[in-house]
Amino acid sequence: MLNLSSPSTSEPRHVKVLILGSGPAGLSAALYAARAELAPVVLTGLELGGQAALTYTIENYPGFPEGVGGAQLGELFQKQAERFGAQVEFDTAQSVDLSRRPFKVTTDNATFLADSLIVATGARPIHLEVPGENLLTGLGISYCATCDGAFFKDRKVIVVGGGDSALEEGLFLTRYASSVTIVHRRDSLRAGPVLQTRAKSNPKIKFIWNTVVTEIVGTDKVEAVRLKNVRTGETSSFPTEGVFIFIGHTPNTQLFQGQLDMDKRGYIQVDALARTNVPGVYAAGEAADPTFRQVVTSAGMGAAAAMQVTKFLEQEESKDAHAEGQKS
Ligand code: NAP
Repeated sequence: MLNLSSPSTSEPRHVKVLILGSGPAGLSAALYAARAELAPVVLTGLELGGQAALTYTIENYPGFPEGVGGAQLGELFQKQAERFGAQVEFDTAQSVDLSRRPFKVTTDNATFLADSLIVATGARPIHLEVPGENLLTGLGISYCATCDGAFFKDRKVIVVGGGDSALEEGLFLTRYASSVTIVHRRDSLRAGPVLQTRAKSNPKIKFIWNTVVTEIVGTDKVEAVRLKNVRTGETSSFPTEGVFIFIGHTPNTQLFQGQLDMDKRGYIQVDALARTNVPGVYAAGEAADPTFRQVVTSAGMGAAAAMQVTKFLEQEESKDAHAEGQKS
């Protein structure tokens, strides 16, 4: 990992391709752009490897029949991109000006002028937004079982949600917790059949159906949750020491509000060629994908965006050469 950024007061750094985000989309884009000899710079953002790096085992990325650790896969992506000349820097974009090329991107450490930009800033977990959540985050509330599960050895925990993440992370938690109770707002799960079968047959996992968490209770640590049955309206208190919340994600795209077209949830709108509404700016991975959100699809989108960037820069270069030729 390099951190060659100079303080933001110094001269802007001119790059051909700037990639924001170091998840599967960003690092796959970096690999393709590096192999096209565009010397891409990747700004990692705060989460090196993105959300995938927080996953204990990834079982559905092709090429790894036994599964692969999320962090390990991220390291492999990075190593492969760096082998061809990508430069990965631990830095985060703070503002962008996409009104003209080169695009101006101001980061914690530097100012970049980028001939092209690939936005691969990913997504982050949605919060429940119930009383007690802000106060007790990190004190028994978590959004990452891989990161925090080990703190709950022999403890009773709950998982909120009924999708793939809730079940996958719930299953992971059974390694440590004495019991894992999955609280879901409906009576059927959104998760795929493989995870459903595994979760339902795990003796440590129990389900509470048709129920939402209305409050997380505790002063300096989680002690209980308040539950409400959405069908009967009945409320109850459920003692627990850990609350793991997996109710979906929201894209990390606020930085581009007003400059890039987005849908109403904030996902960047791209066409089939990964183009945004600003020529020269491409988007890939979960920042632009409300539908698939898999490591393999994000990686594919990143590769596609870099291939399009390569074409875009070639076309711009030939336009410039043509204009120069006409002048002389
Ligand atoms: P998701 O599929 O959007 O599921 C979110 C779950 O949370 C749903 O069950 C939803 O209930 C529930 N929920 C949403 N808002 C809620 C609220 N305010 N209160 C209570 N419950 C709420 O999200 P995800 O599980 O994070 O998965 C995201 C994507 O990643 C999906 O495409 C998924 O397939 C993929 N993924 C795949 C794997 C894998 O293949 N192994 C692993 C993890 C994630 P409803 O069902 O009632 O809407």
